[in-house]
Amino acid sequence: MRHYLGGGFDASGVPFPLVDPVTGRTVGAVPEASRELVDQAVAEARTALRGPWAAWSPAERSRLLHRIADGIEARFEEFAAAECADTGKPRELASTVDIPRAVANFRSYADLLAGRSERSWHTPTPDGRGALNYTVRKPLGVVAVVSPWNLPLLLLTWKVAPALATGNTVVAKPSELTPGTACLLAEVMDEAGAPAGVFNLVHGRGPDAAGQWLTEHPGVDAVAFTGASRTGTEIMRAAAARLAPVSFELGGKNAGLVFADADLEEAVAGTLRSAFTHSGQVCLCTERLYVERSVFDVFAAALAAGAKALSGYGPMVSAAHRDKVLGHLERAVADGGEVLAGGGVPRFGDERDSGFWVEPTVLAGLPEDHPAVRDEIFGPVVHLAPFDTEEEALALANAGPYGLAATVWTGDVRRAHRVAPALDVGIAWVNTWNLRDLRTPFGGVKASGIGREGGDHSLDFFSEPMNVCVKL
Ligand code: NAD
Repeated sequence: MRHYLGGGFDASGVPFPLVDPVTGRTVGAVPEASRELVDQAVAEARTALRGPWAAWSPAERSRLLHRIADGIEARFEEFAAAECADTGKPRELASTVDIPRAVANFRSYADLLAGRSERSWHTPTPDGRGALNYTVRKPLGVVAVVSPWNLPLLLLTWKVAPALATGNTVVAKPSELTPGTACLLAEVMDEAGAPAGVFNLVHGRGPDAAGQWLTEHPGVDAVAFTGASRTGTEIMRAAAARLAPVSFELGGKNAGLVFADADLEEAVAGTLRSAFTHSGQVCLCTERLYVERSVFDVFAAALAAGAKALSGYGPMVSAAHRDKVLGHLERAVADGGEVLAGGGVPRFGDERDSGFWVEPTVLAGLPEDHPAVRDEIFGPVVHLAPFDTEEEALALANAGPYGLAATVWTGDVRRAHRVAPALDVGIAWVNTWNLRDLRTPFGGVKASGIGREGGDHSLDFFSEPMNVCVKL
């Protein structure tokens, strides 16, 4: 595990342990970046901004992004293995979602960039000569990218690709829990010919460490962050001091609505995916499910049976996170919550018993203001509650501080188009979940984020439009 700055690798810093979530064992060490190293990385990124990189055409940047994608593909198995080692996620998930999406992140921005044009206007003037107005897009400068542990490479590259596409230089800080694929990405950048200092990587923790030093750094022009909402508040405070723009993808407490007219089999299968993919450790996962009362019992029984039958799922990422999830479950039971499935820790009879596992869990019967229904758990836990009317369903879904994503299960096309846009979220899925087209806007409202990423939205965030007006 090494830092990467100014085109060179660096292993300096006091090491902190890397723990395998599957077994709970310490399996390695990561060097913690010092404040001086963060300063140096930002300085390298600043120097690179004024170097040959500044003269690279969009076509050249587009080709670099494709070479990076090629580099990830060439080492696909290594990337998948590193992602599984750090997160404990099943191999199938890493090799069908995380790594292919990282490749797609680079390719989609490479292609988008190649076809992007700016508008210009001929503006009439009273003297008849007119003026030509055109827009110049400039990079923001040095961009800090701070990413979480749940989809480490996918979420890192989701920001690095458009940042590089638009000509910025980047200092990235991956989660201290999952640094493996970011290290491989630095190697791929190097091999792909990214100029020295264009992509830099520092490892370390958040508060009073590399994360904080980077995001409050006066040499950083913008911050792109994915992580918890409370961390977003801290980073925004730091960025506010120098009025640096931020793009935030934050937490969620995503609701699902199941109407009686839905294909219930499809809704159960979809909810098993939306609640339990990566053991609920995806920001888009459904944690609150509201089911129309006439089908509540049938649906709850089918979902509980499906949850009990799940196998091949992974652990929580850390002991602290496992304890947080189990704490929610204990309190839910103590407060009279009904456990329809799971609720405990699975026993394997092997080395996994010292890992950070939690069973896929279905709860019911808790009031809406209970912490398990109100707070983001970010684990394999979904709470079911009945509703009687569409208005009530919408009110329940829209309550609370978050607004990231929601799912609607219905067979009525009019209802689908009525309900989906009325949800206070950034993304609403109808009769599906996490079906992504990378050109679409991605992000949350309320405490779930600021700004949109994806397609042109990312290219817009990572560049500054400037108007030039020429009198003719
Ligand atoms: P986190 O906020 O604890 O950490 C995210 C990153 O921020 C890490 O790299 C961490 O080291 C760094 N960090 C922590 N404190 C910091 C500080 N004070 N200053 C600067 N950097 C700091 O989040 P996490 O536990 O790694 O990830 C889980 C959270 O991320 C959940 O809330 C989840 O919903 C959210 N998330 C959101 C999305 C999305 O797209 N909206 C995607 C994935 C995860």
